[in-house]
Amino acid sequence: MLSEMCPVCNSPLFEIRGELRCIRCDKPVVKVHEESEVLVASAPLILTRLENAITDKLDVLTNLLQRTSEPEELKELAETITSLIQLFHESRKLSEKLRKEQTET
Ligand SMILES: [Zn+2]
Repeated sequence: MLSEMCPVCNSPLFEIRGELRCIRCDKPVVKVHEESEVLVASAPLILTRLENAITDKLDVLTNLLQRTSEPEELKELAETITSLIQLFHESRKLSEKLRKEQTET
């Protein structure tokens, strides 16, 4: 266990085979010096958390959608599902962009 904390969940980090990892997020963590760099480095982790959260909600909403035949509720669910899928798509696009920027530098 190291003194550094995970920028996403604030859990203490562990060094595993030369790589800094957060056990709780189950992700490698990039150690940086500037605070702004910490944010950039943790952005992919945050996006992954966001995508996981969206997937969870889509699962819940799909169950609700299956159960209802009430037009107003269907409409509301469809709109919510559409915006979540859009958000998911945006998050994926941003992840891709960050990954490309990281390999370029
Ligand atoms: Zn973490």
